[in-house]
Amino acid sequence: MNEIKGITYSVVAPIYNEIENIPELYRRVCETMSSMGDPWELILVDDGCTDGSTQAILDLADKDERVIPLIFARNFGHQIAVTAGWDHARGDAVIIIDADLQDPPEVIPELAARWKDGYEVVYAVRSEREGESWFKKFSASVFYRLITRITEVKIPLDTGDFRLLDRRVVKVLRQMRERHRFLRGMSAWVGFRQVGVPYRRAGRFAGETKYPVGKMVRLALNAITGFSYFPLQLATYLGFVAAGVSALAIPVVAVLRLVGSNFFFGQATTLIAVLFLGGVQLISLGILGEYLGRIYDEVKGRPLYIVREAPEDTRV
Ligand code: UDP
Ligand code: MG
Repeated sequence: MNEIKGITYSVVAPIYNEIENIPELYRRVCETMSSMGDPWELILVDDGCTDGSTQAILDLADKDERVIPLIFARNFGHQIAVTAGWDHARGDAVIIIDADLQDPPEVIPELAARWKDGYEVVYAVRSEREGESWFKKFSASVFYRLITRITEVKIPLDTGDFRLLDRRVVKVLRQMRERHRFLRGMSAWVGFRQVGVPYRRAGRFAGETKYPVGKMVRLALNAITGFSYFPLQLATYLGFVAAGVSALAIPVVAVLRLVGSNFFFGQATTLIAVLFLGGVQLISLGILGEYLGRIYDEVKGRPLYIVREAPEDTRV
């Protein structure tokens, strides 16, 4: 399809209620992409918007044939919206960008320059972040450091989904249909030649974040369960520790009793031991549940997303 259209760049922006940002996003993407001189398309993925963004996207697409609308049947989440975007992208390079202009479109030429140098994944690294709460910055920094420790995939620090992917990488990513996705992990996992480009992450142009704490926690859990067995192994380690403690404690208590000491006498000791082990077991069960639920979702094999409206010729 790319051969027919000859599109070089596909810019993918997931959109969840960003009505105030759409005109500015379009303007700045147009300006930047036109300055680069190669043919491009802008894929706007409507992730179940309820604020009129859908109509704004369709109007833009009517006006400008480089704008490709993908309208979801409901909200599927940011990571799935980006996935739909790269599933439909026709360009030789796919650029993923947030619709709230926190990822400045003006950085795209820098990403493209590294791509032309031969890198297949060019990710943008946040050297500074503006307009975000200390909690968000703190939790992000703790999270990235934790995830690099417990997973084998080396996910670069302080990167988001803002990146350029070569067509070959996109082809591989399209085959990875896991439901609970962590795209930065997936794009690190595939390998290829990767490089980072530093940029200043701006504040939101307008509107509120669409990533409340609940969604952030879910994304973090997807990242951990998607790339590590460590939480599952935790139960084994704790089991060995508990068994070790009991192997030492049982003879000590027995001897103390035989010599007439009442040191370990009473309900409090029993209560602490029972509650502690009960807690550990319930947490382990919960961890098992996290993985089991995800397996169940995969087994059901439902489509990742449902498109309500899209131009016919973009279906890849
Ligand atoms: N987004 C989406 N679906 C969602 C939540 C967010 O498509 O369920 C989009 C949102 O419109 C934005 C991008 O994902 O373009 C990043 O979201 P946001 O800016 O709210 O996240 P933050 O930058 O605060 O982490
Ligand atoms: Mg944002």
